[in-house]
Amino acid sequence: MTDGFHLVVEALKLNGVDTIYGVAGIPITDLLRLAQNEGIRYIGFRHEQSAGNAAAIAGYLTQKPGICMTVSAPGFLNGLVALANATTNCFPMILISGSSDRAIVDLEQGDYEEMDQLAAARPYAKAAYRINRPQDIGIGIARAIRAAVSGRPGGVYLDLTAEVLGSALDVETAKKSLVKVVDPAPPQPPAPASVARALDLLASAQRPLVILGKGAAYARADEEIRSFIETTGIPFLPMSMAKGLLPDEHPQSAAAARSYAIGNADVVMLAGARMNWLLSHGRAPLWSENTRFVQVDISPTEIDSNRAIAAPVVGDIKSVFAAFNAALKPGQIKRQAAWTDEIGKRKQQNVERMAARLNADPSPMNFSSALRAVRNALATQPDVYIVNEGANTLDFGRNIIDMDKPRHRLDSGTWGIMGIGMGYAVGAAVETGKPVVAIEGDSAFGFSGMEIETICRYELPVTTIIFNNNGVYRGDAPGAPYSPTGLLRGARYEKIIEAFGGAGYHVTDTPSLTKALSDALASGKPALINAVIDPTAGTESGHIQSLNPRSAAAPKK
Ligand code: ADP
Ligand code: MG
Repeated sequence: MTDGFHLVVEALKLNGVDTIYGVAGIPITDLLRLAQNEGIRYIGFRHEQSAGNAAAIAGYLTQKPGICMTVSAPGFLNGLVALANATTNCFPMILISGSSDRAIVDLEQGDYEEMDQLAAARPYAKAAYRINRPQDIGIGIARAIRAAVSGRPGGVYLDLTAEVLGSALDVETAKKSLVKVVDPAPPQPPAPASVARALDLLASAQRPLVILGKGAAYARADEEIRSFIETTGIPFLPMSMAKGLLPDEHPQSAAAARSYAIGNADVVMLAGARMNWLLSHGRAPLWSENTRFVQVDISPTEIDSNRAIAAPVVGDIKSVFAAFNAALKPGQIKRQAAWTDEIGKRKQQNVERMAARLNADPSPMNFSSALRAVRNALATQPDVYIVNEGANTLDFGRNIIDMDKPRHRLDSGTWGIMGIGMGYAVGAAVETGKPVVAIEGDSAFGFSGMEIETICRYELPVTTIIFNNNGVYRGDAPGAPYSPTGLLRGARYEKIIEAFGGAGYHVTDTPSLTKALSDALASGKPALINAVIDPTAGTESGHIQSLNPRSAAAPKK
C-alpha cells in the first residue's frame, strides 16, 4: 500500500518539480519531510506570503510553475496574496494548501483552521481545484501544472484535504493514476494574415515604436526580438521588468525619451505588455489619440482592452517574432532617420539633465546619489539579479539602475505591490544560483523583513540594501509626533542580519555604500546594508501622485 503523501511527492517529481517553497505545519509537515527525503529541495519561510512570492518569481524565471505549500486557513490566506499577485502578473505558480476535514468544514461545525479554501481562492486564481480522492492526485496535479503554464500563465490553487493525504491506496492503482504532463505550454503560432497585417501597419509608420513588456521577457524570445528590432531599426521602450531584454545601453532604446516617444509615435507595437495603468491606459496627456496599435499577446481578450487595436497578433511571442522575422521582406520596414534622430536628441538632453542630479553628492545622501553609488558597485556585475520595491526607491531605481541581461530585474510589477522583496530575492537566488541585490525602501522592507533569517539559514548570496529615510515616502520632521507615514527615526536595520550571523553595514555616504556593496558581493554571503538617506528626500506616492486622492481639508504637505 501507499498513501496520499507519497503520491503527491511522486506526481510532483514525475513532472520535474525540483523545489518547493513553503511553511510547515498541520497537515503538510510530513508531506514536506517526505518531499525533502525524496530529493526535492525544500525552502522553508517565516511567512507564507514570502514563500508564495518566491514560488511566483521562480515560475517567472523558469517557465515552470513555482510550487508553494502552506497549512490550512490562516496559512493558506497568507499565501493567497502571493497567488493573486502571481495571477495579476501572469507568473505561473501553484499554491498547494492542506485543508481541514470537509465534512466538518462544509457544515461549519467549527473545525481547527476551518475554511472553504477552494471558494476563497477561486476569484484570485487562474484556476482552482480540490483533490478529493487519493486516486485523483495524479490527474489533479497534472491539471494544476497545465493551467499554470499554458496560454497566459497564472496562479493556480490546489486544495489537498488532510484526509486525502492520509488515505491509503494500493501501489498498482497508485502507479497507474500518475500523469506526466506532455507539452504543458505548447507554442501558439499566430495566424499568417495577422502577421502580414501587423508588418504592413508598421511599414506604413513614420514614427514607429515597440513597447516590450514582461510577457516578452517571460517568453524567452530574446534572439527573435533582438533580430526584429535591429533589422527594422524601430526604437523600443522596455517596461520595468522587460529592462535588459535588450540592454538599456542599446542605441535604439528610447527609455530616456519615454514621454516623447510615446506621445509622438504614430504606430506602437505592444509586445507582452498590457495597456493598463502603467501605460496610462493609452490615454491623454501621455498618448495621442491618433496613434495606431499592433498588439502581440497570447491572450485574445487582452486585445482592445483600453484602446482599439488595429493589428492584433494573438500567439506566443517566440512564435510571433519568429513569424515576423520570416515574413519581413528586405526593406519592407524602412529606417525612419528623422524620428530616431529626434529621439536620440531628446535622450541626450535628458541624460545630461539627469547627470547633474546623479553627480551631486549631498549629505545626507538622497535617492539619486545613493543609487549612483549602488550603480557604481554593480557596473562590473551584470549577472546580479535586482529586486526592487518601495515608492521612490522603485521609481528612481528603475531609471538609474541599467540592466544588461533579460529577466534580471524583478520588481513590484502590475499591482505595484509592496512586500515581494525578500520572497523574490530568495526565489531568484535559489533558482539561479546567482547573486541577488534587493534595493528596498525602508517601508517596503518591513513587509518581508523576517525572511532575512531565511536568507541566512540557507546562506544565500543576497544583499539587501535599505534606503532608510525613516518613513513611507519620507520621514517626519525631527521631533514631530509620528504621522501615518512615519517610521522609527534612525532604525538600525543592519542589526537584524547580525542577529542571524550575516554581515551588517551602516553607511551614510556614497563611497561607503559602493564599498559595502562591493564587499558584500565579493563575499557571496548574506548581507544587509542600511543606507541612511535624507528623511526629507522622497515625494508622497512617488511618481504616481495622481492616483492618490487628497482631501481639500487635509493639512498641506
Ligand atoms: P508589463 O507590466 O511589463 O507591461 P504585463 O504583465 O502588463 O507586462 O503584460 C504581460 C502580457 O504578456 C500579458 O498580457 C500576457 O498575456 C502576455 N504574455 C505572457 N506570456 C506570453 C507569451 N509567451 N507570449 C505572448 N504573450 C504573453
Ligand atoms: Mg522610506
